[in-house]
Amino acid sequence: MKIWVNGGLHTAEGALVSVLDHGLTVGDGIFETVKTVHGRPFALTRHLDRLSRSARGLGLPEPDLDEVRRACAAVLDANPVDLGRLRITYTGGLSPLGSDRGEAGPTLVVAVGGTKRRPDTTAAITVPWTRNERGAVTGLKTTSYAENVVALARAREHGASEALFANTVGALCEGTGSNVFVVLDGELHTPPLASGCLAGITRALTAEWCGAHETDLPLDVLERADEIFLTSTLRDVQAVHRLDDRQLPAAPGPVTTKAMRVFEERAGADLDP
Ligand code: PLP
Repeated sequence: MKIWVNGGLHTAEGALVSVLDHGLTVGDGIFETVKTVHGRPFALTRHLDRLSRSARGLGLPEPDLDEVRRACAAVLDANPVDLGRLRITYTGGLSPLGSDRGEAGPTLVVAVGGTKRRPDTTAAITVPWTRNERGAVTGLKTTSYAENVVALARAREHGASEALFANTVGALCEGTGSNVFVVLDGELHTPPLASGCLAGITRALTAEWCGAHETDLPLDVLERADEIFLTSTLRDVQAVHRLDDRQLPAAPGPVTTKAMRVFEERAGADLDP
């Protein structure tokens, strides 16, 4: 496998990033996972916009988006098997211990990763920990994923693939790596960005294409929602058939089925919507 690191392609084994890289030592990196379709990136412009927003939010130097595009193309060319996704990682870069970040410039890594076709339905749990809707890094796609790793481990212990968080005021927020939609009385709703959720690209496209309302929802809406589904780059639209102890045996229900179909059709027709 060939990986892009700071200006050129390397083998995975030969690619080096300093042990003093700030992304490693303090976790102030950002990333994007980009789905690939027949070896081409999907929604790359939206991903690059979010990468820039995350960099600004974290105070990292503005990423050179032309270089990121070149790196993505080079990595896809060099890895001819369509592995399903690109992972872009960008950090403040090498910094001597004890000084400020970025003295040797930022680090850019672009790698490919595999992705299995996700099942149409999955199980999810709620977790007792909260997302902070007003934190310094709320809404930024940072590499500091430890909280998500812990919540996902809890989900796996319960035979689920995702864990859903409420925010500090008890409103439904998002999953560890996905956004959440619920159907109430036939209407589709998703929490607003003010809930603290990531501005998911699949969320935005699904909301636009399927006409979802952005609504503040108490966490217990999950106990009465007719349908629940998750969206993410790796899941697309995925129905929830069990939430904690609640079974939703009809999943995917009619609204979810329609969202799945619309997403598949529209995403297949336009690689950079
Ligand atoms: N929320 C979080 C915390 C995520 O990490 C992700 C994706 O990784 C999402 C939501 C979904 O975003 P997207 O649809 O852009 O993949």
